[in-house]
Amino acid sequence: MTIPFFDISRQHAQIENQLIEAASRVIRSGRYILGSEVEQFEQDCVLFLGGGLHALAVSSGTDSLLLALMALEIGPGDEVIVPSFTFFATAGCVSRVGATPVFADSCPISFNLDPADVVRRISKRTKAIIPVHLFGQAADMDEIMAVAKDHGLKVIEDAAQAFGATYKGQAVGTLGDFGTYSFYPTKNLGALGDAGLLVTKTSDLARRAEILRVHGMEPKYHHQFIGGNFRLDALQTALLRVKLPHLSEWNLKRCEKARIYIDALSPVADLPTNIDSVVGRGALGGGSCLPGILPDRSHIWNQFTIQVGCAGARTRLREYLASQGIGTDIYYPIPLHRQACFAHLPVPVAPLPVAEYLANNVLSLPIFPELTKVEQSRIVEAISDFYRQP
Ligand SMILES: *Cc1c(COP(=O)(O)O)cnc(C)c1O
Repeated sequence: MTIPFFDISRQHAQIENQLIEAASRVIRSGRYILGSEVEQFEQDCVLFLGGGLHALAVSSGTDSLLLALMALEIGPGDEVIVPSFTFFATAGCVSRVGATPVFADSCPISFNLDPADVVRRISKRTKAIIPVHLFGQAADMDEIMAVAKDHGLKVIEDAAQAFGATYKGQAVGTLGDFGTYSFYPTKNLGALGDAGLLVTKTSDLARRAEILRVHGMEPKYHHQFIGGNFRLDALQTALLRVKLPHLSEWNLKRCEKARIYIDALSPVADLPTNIDSVVGRGALGGGSCLPGILPDRSHIWNQFTIQVGCAGARTRLREYLASQGIGTDIYYPIPLHRQACFAHLPVPVAPLPVAEYLANNVLSLPIFPELTKVEQSRIVEAISDFYRQP
């Protein structure tokens, strides 16, 4: 039996007829860019996120970040604080608008931005913070919003992996100045291609972003600002509209699978980990390598990520699982402050030990909604076997 790390085709097999019907509807409509399909989807998303918002469907999660930075007029001379342990786009977009990404360290339990470390890295050039709700769990938003308020900073929530996750009952992405989401196929709501969403509560910002989405053009052929083409296809939104009504159920299925992993792996989870030496004893509650779930928030488990301490153990576990036909992946093997493209940036004012540790030690296990019970038992068994070996 081979168990894929991720397989979206199982999900699409269940709804194939509706997907084909939605695609046919768009093909017949003759309207392929923006238009009523896209507007309907934006309204569906506003409802899903709890209302009181402006939503813009855009070409990708990356482009939604870029659009947020552009709408906030962040550019050369400005600094934006981002986690080092995240997907590249969070920081890449900051550089693309000409601003400087300033990397901050992460919490070893939730993998999210450490608010205390953010404070340490604020300078007089800092304009914004981009917390990422990594792997589907909200960052410490109360603390981050308080820091932002104290220092007059904007907050863009990178909720690419957390569409449907909540913080104190509110959808993540709706708490800062902007929220950005990705519908890349591996995200909890995956398109059949690239797609993203930008939300804000502020109508002026929404209006500005809407104009920037179409080359800063308003009215036609009059350009107010320099924007770009950040439009989403009607075809993708029609397909996403078929999938959105299933999302809560799919997110619940991911939660069930996370629970099964936590229960089944806890006995073996006294796993060799050396994070204590990096961040201080007890930071992981006794050295458990299972992902931490923090209070006041719901986790939607875009990834189930364990920490495999001790030099070489991650590679050995990964190879062992591969030999049993089990797919795994590493999100993310290199912290962003170590990426070649950022080598020209000023040296960070303080080291980033947690980001370094996580990049060297994390391993993500299969957790998509259609993963079967039998498959998951096999994964748990294989991990237990690995740790039983002498
Ligand atoms: C996926 C992702 C993005 C980018 O989204 P795309 O739709 O792939 O452009 C940005 N930030 C994070 C944290 C992501 O996981």
